[in-house]
Amino acid sequence: MDIQELQKEAHRIAVEHGFWAVGDEVANYRCFALRIALVHSELSEALEAARATDVSLDAVRNDYTFAGRLRSTALANVAEELADAVIRIADLAEAFRIDLQSAVETKMAHNEGRPWLHGKRF
Ligand SMILES: [Mg+2]
Repeated sequence: MDIQELQKEAHRIAVEHGFWAVGDEVANYRCFALRIALVHSELSEALEAARATDVSLDAVRNDYTFAGRLRSTALANVAEELADAVIRIADLAEAFRIDLQSAVETKMAHNEGRPWLHGKRF
């Protein structure tokens, strides 16, 4: 599934499950702000899932096998919350007619040419 398909599917599912009332698709800043807050909430859930683990995420991260990653329930929980955040972003992008595929490709090409740490300290 590419990003364009992800956007359409995430938004379709969100609409079908009541996350968008009639008229919500009309872009307005309050609706946009609410959706951004929902992305934040998913990232906070990912952080809490990571905090709940006694497994070093660094150690797990270095086990690149799928089975190895799934051994950590905590990491699976982190992955689920990150997936929620991606889905929320895809839903938001589709609702506001944002071409996330192009935006990601453009930004990644830009980032590739940027200096070490993008010129920041960390
Ligand atoms: Mg969640």
